[in-house]
Amino acid sequence: METTTQEKEVRKAQKLDGARVADEIKREVAAEVERLRGEHGVTPRLATILVGDDAASAVYVRNKIRTCEELGIGSEHRSLPVETTTAQLLELIESLNARDDVDGILVQLPLPDGVDESAVIEAIDPERDVDGFHPVNVGRMMQRRPALLPCTPAGVIELLVREGVEISGARVCVVGRSNIVGRPVAELLLQRDATVTISHSRTPDLPAVTREADILVVAIGRAGLVRAEHVRPGAVVVDVGMNRVTDESQVRDLFGDDAGKRLKALNERGYTLVGDVHPAQVESVVGRLTPVPGGVGLLTVAMLMKNTVTAARRRRGFEEGKRQEAKGKGQM
Ligand code: NAP
Repeated sequence: METTTQEKEVRKAQKLDGARVADEIKREVAAEVERLRGEHGVTPRLATILVGDDAASAVYVRNKIRTCEELGIGSEHRSLPVETTTAQLLELIESLNARDDVDGILVQLPLPDGVDESAVIEAIDPERDVDGFHPVNVGRMMQRRPALLPCTPAGVIELLVREGVEISGARVCVVGRSNIVGRPVAELLLQRDATVTISHSRTPDLPAVTREADILVVAIGRAGLVRAEHVRPGAVVVDVGMNRVTDESQVRDLFGDDAGKRLKALNERGYTLVGDVHPAQVESVVGRLTPVPGGVGLLTVAMLMKNTVTAARRRRGFEEGKRQEAKGKGQM
């Protein structure tokens, strides 16, 4: 039987609207910045550090600085050459730790080979660790104590909660077990009473595991790896992946009938951004899906802004303002 365009539209997953939720959080943060300025004469300030010339990292840092400007958060940026040593980076972090006007310190990862990433993360004052990667914040999070939470995992939770997805009691599968996404997002989902399975590259028969999930969170770093056979019909799928695809036939395969806009981007910029979920295959099976771009990435930046304001308030001993926080066990 022939399928009309309209019928195809109907069968597409409903979007998990990262842009809407990120805007909502940013509005709350801007109001809090205003309040801190009005009541305490303080402007929260974020210091960003970029080492080397990775193009994607430069884009991410630019977005973060632009968002600070948008929300009234102060910012300052250091771009360091790729030859920068661990010792030089530690010295810079020490000097930022010593400044009272710096509330958040963000070192864009990954760092170039040869720089000791763990030493760099541990050098940041935990109270200003707005990425939430310092072992003190990770430990506090695991013990369910107030912590600066890692931005992407916290953003995934905000997205689900504010889009009305029930986490409590849901069967959740997280694909990926990295320190920055997979593990912490699994922990935060567990704290909200989901039944959580973590899968990874050594998981036998991945589709059988992921198909069990009501909520599937994918953070792998492989364009379009999650296909129709990996998802349960009607599931909620959060695609954390951000991969640059440069091959035209891969773009056609990933986007099917919707490839036109992506091919245009490919021609203009030399790449298009694709998640870890195969959109053409998965969209027609699942209930809700995050777009890439326009999904989790926007939340990551919004949560960084929120962490910067939280860090400013806590470090300076100010009371928490009345904000419309997402209900539940948020620890921010
Ligand atoms: P990562 O550190 O490379 O970790 C990838 C994880 O995926 C690992 O645990 C790995 O398993 C697992 N994996 C790899 N291949 C697999 C396969 N074939 N089947 C099942 N599991 C597999 O990556 P990450 O830092 O977590 O980032 C993941 C993705 O999210 C990337 O695309 C990254 O760009 C994106 N990201 C996006 C944001 C955002 O703001 N949207 C933020 C951070 C990251 P093993 O542990 O067994 O190796």
